[in-house]
Amino acid sequence: MIDRATVDRILDATRIEEVIGDFVSLKRRGANYLGLCPFHQDKNPSLSVSSTKQIFKCFACGKAGTAVSFIMEHEKLSYPEALKYLAKKYGIEVVEKEQTPEEIAARLKGESLLIVNEYAQKYYQQLLWDPARTHLVGLSYFKERKFSDDTIRKFGLGFAPAGGKSFAATALEEGYKEEYLVDSGLCIKRDDGSLSDRFYDRVMFPIHSLSGRVIAFGGRILTSDKSKAKYINSPETEVYVKNRSLYGIYFAKTAIANKDCCLLVEGYTDVISMHQAGIENVVASSGTSLTVGQISLIKRFTDKIIVIYDGDAAGIKASIRGIDMILQQGMKVEVVLLPSEDDPDSFAKAHSREEIEEFIASNKCDFITFKTNLLLEEIDNNPIRKAQLINDIIESVSMIPDQIERNVYVGQVASRFDIKEDAVFQKIRQLRSRRNSQEQARNRVMQPGPAVSLPGDYEPLPAGYEDSAAVDAVESAPKPLTDAYLAVNEKEIVYYLLKFGEYPLHTDDSLRYDRTAKAADVPTVAEYIHKSLEEDDLQFENPVYKKIYGEYFSRPRETEEDCEVAQGKIIRYFSTHPDQDVSATMMDVICDNYPLTVKVYRDSLTPEEQMLGKNVPRAVIAYRIKVIDRLCASTVKEVDAAFKSGDGESCKEKMRFLAALNTVKNNLTKELNRL
Ligand SMILES: [Zn+2]
Repeated sequence: MIDRATVDRILDATRIEEVIGDFVSLKRRGANYLGLCPFHQDKNPSLSVSSTKQIFKCFACGKAGTAVSFIMEHEKLSYPEALKYLAKKYGIEVVEKEQTPEEIAARLKGESLLIVNEYAQKYYQQLLWDPARTHLVGLSYFKERKFSDDTIRKFGLGFAPAGGKSFAATALEEGYKEEYLVDSGLCIKRDDGSLSDRFYDRVMFPIHSLSGRVIAFGGRILTSDKSKAKYINSPETEVYVKNRSLYGIYFAKTAIANKDCCLLVEGYTDVISMHQAGIENVVASSGTSLTVGQISLIKRFTDKIIVIYDGDAAGIKASIRGIDMILQQGMKVEVVLLPSEDDPDSFAKAHSREEIEEFIASNKCDFITFKTNLLLEEIDNNPIRKAQLINDIIESVSMIPDQIERNVYVGQVASRFDIKEDAVFQKIRQLRSRRNSQEQARNRVMQPGPAVSLPGDYEPLPAGYEDSAAVDAVESAPKPLTDAYLAVNEKEIVYYLLKFGEYPLHTDDSLRYDRTAKAADVPTVAEYIHKSLEEDDLQFENPVYKKIYGEYFSRPRETEEDCEVAQGKIIRYFSTHPDQDVSATMMDVICDNYPLTVKVYRDSLTPEEQMLGKNVPRAVIAYRIKVIDRLCASTVKEVDAAFKSGDGESCKEKMRFLAALNTVKNNLTKELNRL
């Protein structure tokens, strides 16, 4: 465990804009920074980072939190690991309390895999440079490819020796656990229980995450043995998801942001040679066809991609689908075709940086021209094939999300193929509406029923009225309820406590937008919540939320003039809580999606604190309605049982109770709708 003083030092040193800026290209907008959100497929910058408040928030998907929670979420680290990450970034020494073997064992598996990968990378790298053991076969392969020593070291290239046992044996001897060696994909467990290496007699290309950690390897064979795969790769693991990884992204991200353009090539050596030539804004999808996840990784840094294709045309048609995908993500795409004998690797070696840049600049073309040139050759004036080509290109144009940009291409297509613009527009409308309805069908989700508090006392209804109300209650009673039934609502309330508990809750519209206007009779958010729940004697069921709620009101506190300062202390109190369940939950609550039951907010750009007057009462009412719903469901069962046992009195009594519940619920629902 990290001691309190160190945690404070880390949090004091941390600048959220610097932390997030390592992963997302941020642009200043007044007091805030704006960038593309890494937590959803962001098309327009939705991520707002406040350097004064030291928090981030995505206006589109609702993710929000502190620098620590950003790192936890983004790098998939636990709370203490995220703190260590920040400590490392800011050069703060971490004083750790002694860990028990159980605590060590309980560390996140992801971190263990990263550690094993890191070890493997060093192991392979050291063998590459060790003349005694490798006879320089690995190194000479890279030298033959004209990689300089600096380049080889920069990319952490290595060599896995022949034999197929040496890495496993050395790693075990060094104390690395068999479990992680196998789970990382570096070793394979044989039927006889022995461990062997996945990679042997191959040169090794480590694959880095966006933050520069080794997450996987690609190994290339050195012989021309046709019976063996030319490249083998690590399997997918907790830390390596192929369709969200791009080879070279760690080394390229700064250049991509600076040049506002990303070059896309195919293989490891293409990336490395381009770097060596001085072109650094380049990544590779490494063999797999491009995925949406990979495109959105690039999109955090630029919205322009230039795809560089080998001169040999065979592979092009297969990868042309990638272009549509890029367009669909709202990115601008251009294409460069290299001279027929070249691939990016050989081309980069044969030319200087200026020549390469010049070649790209003068040979890049938009996707319509590219597709047309590529396909026209085969068409040979066959009218049917020509119609197919036009349809194919129109389909690509229809993928572009921005209407204005789309219209520009419509004009180009129409003039190029001598067809009417109207016809192109109509075709695009058809294609888009078909895709939209397909998408809606996929996204259609069950909307939650009206959300819900307990009736204090209820008055028996006049005779004759009760039955119909009871019937309503029965019909609107929810289906079987799970244990986590209330957890979402409890979480939402805890969210407001932790993030805005000390803020004044102005329900008066004229005051709502002014957090400094403190009237004596205005409760804080926390006071409001406490009073509302106390009225009905409601207690949280989730043990951690219950603990946070209890401690929020019982912890020692000073009076603080400024609500933001007071809230900062509360966030720090809970995020450094000795009970790890509490600190982890704190981070989870703060950085999770904006509470699920209040979706309206997502569409608005109003700062959250200005919506407290509406949203906090909403959250409390939604919680109360759900408690009632559950009570209705259990009462319905009791009515049923009483009816079956022939107990008419009890049955009637319970029906009245149901009717009363329903009345309360209706009133609450009205109130909810009013808000
Ligand atoms: Zn987002």
